[in-house]
Amino acid sequence: MNELKNCPFCGEKAELRTTGNDYTKKRVAEIRCKSCCTKMRVGALKHNLEWCEKIVTENWNTRKIESQLLEAVLAYQELCTCYRLGRRPSEKLFVKLKKADKALEDM
Ligand SMILES: [Zn+2]
Repeated sequence: MNELKNCPFCGEKAELRTTGNDYTKKRVAEIRCKSCCTKMRVGALKHNLEWCEKIVTENWNTRKIESQLLEAVLAYQELCTCYRLGRRPSEKLFVKLKKADKALEDM
């Protein structure tokens, strides 16, 4: 299973807990921040606990804004490298920078 990212609000560690099993009808996987109690849960009747754990972990670890910021930083880092080395930035990099600027504007 993937490692859990820290809490998006306070940055502290989070933990995964499950309730229910194959004999009970309801199964729940919950991730809770140990510090501020932010939580996220996924429950299922038709799927098993492993499925619940997988989905809640994916949801908890997916941070669209964080990913967009990282892509923007990497694009600008690449641009800095180009200028430092006296290279002309590629068309592909210009596309990345345009996408990064759009994402930053939308935040
Ligand atoms: Zn927290």
